[in-house]
Amino acid sequence: MKRLLFPTIMLALLFQSCDKTAQLTYEPFTGELRHAFGISTNTRTTTPIVLTRITLDGKTGYGEAALPPYLKETQESVCSFLKLAEPVINSCTEPLNVDSIMQVVNDLAPGNHAAKASIDIALHDLYGKLQDKPLWQLWDIDPNATPCTSYTIGYDACDSIVLLKVHEADWAKILKVKLGREEAEDKRMINLIRSVSDKPIYVDANQGWLTKEHALMMCQWLAEQGVVLIEQPMPKHMDEEHAWLCEQVELPIIADEACQTYADVARLQPYYDGINIKLMKCGGVAEARKMIALARELGMQIMIGCMTETRAGISAATVLSPLVDYADLDGHVLLGNDPYDGIQIVDGKLTLVDKPGTGVSPLH
Ligand code: MG
Repeated sequence: MKRLLFPTIMLALLFQSCDKTAQLTYEPFTGELRHAFGISTNTRTTTPIVLTRITLDGKTGYGEAALPPYLKETQESVCSFLKLAEPVINSCTEPLNVDSIMQVVNDLAPGNHAAKASIDIALHDLYGKLQDKPLWQLWDIDPNATPCTSYTIGYDACDSIVLLKVHEADWAKILKVKLGREEAEDKRMINLIRSVSDKPIYVDANQGWLTKEHALMMCQWLAEQGVVLIEQPMPKHMDEEHAWLCEQVELPIIADEACQTYADVARLQPYYDGINIKLMKCGGVAEARKMIALARELGMQIMIGCMTETRAGISAATVLSPLVDYADLDGHVLLGNDPYDGIQIVDGKLTLVDKPGTGVSPLH
């Protein structure tokens, strides 16, 4: 009897200790795009992602690192960083102090913003789930103030594919169009879309216009076509040229590639009308919230955007969407194999769900 009792007690103790400390797990995931996605610099049909999960006390928070080529993080680099962070996360207990955990995680290595975001997003989801309350409620954010999201139409050389994409975006109230190629191609894209749709358009040039004169000519033409804002018209190092452009045109000029983290916000204020905040660039929800507060203080316009993400990332960004002017949170719609349920888009409007955390759960 004694011989049996000892292992049983040891097992019970072990089980208890596993249950009371967090556990980080992660796996690479290939996002499959519904359509080939073209921007001014490349075209792709799949997108690399790393999915993260943090489990504590029977609840699981879901996060992700979505990795567009220009960010320079890879599935390998994210997994290496997560391996480094594992002992930190696996020693976490309740109550979960997300800010101090993230401080330790952020200090593990510089950069790695998408990898850090994958932990931050999972932790915030878990934080809400442990309290059985939606994150928007814990942060006193008005769930009814969510904006409509734009839906992105990537570049395509084939007219009928562009028109098909516009048709599929029937549900969207705002379109976002990827430009930044030569003048004739950019105008062809807009003229095609305008032949079938009069919806407001956000234009993203992805640094593709190389002189301020060309950018000015395009902005003036686009303003006449019902475009309401321009994202990153010229290369990100052209600060003075962007400031000049802002003076010349009424359309808001929004920094995207130029604005990565909190440190960029105040620096960019003299050169742009606003910034595009993305969780994968800045390192997560907590950092994005700080950027929103600072940009507001500085009188800048704010867009919240995304990479091609699953609902794990999009749901977290949507929690912050009532605090911004423009939302471009359509990453999960571009994916054909999103493994998660979470926020919904109802009649073009982002819709927060009344579920704990960020509202994310696996579909299967
Ligand atoms: Mg952009």
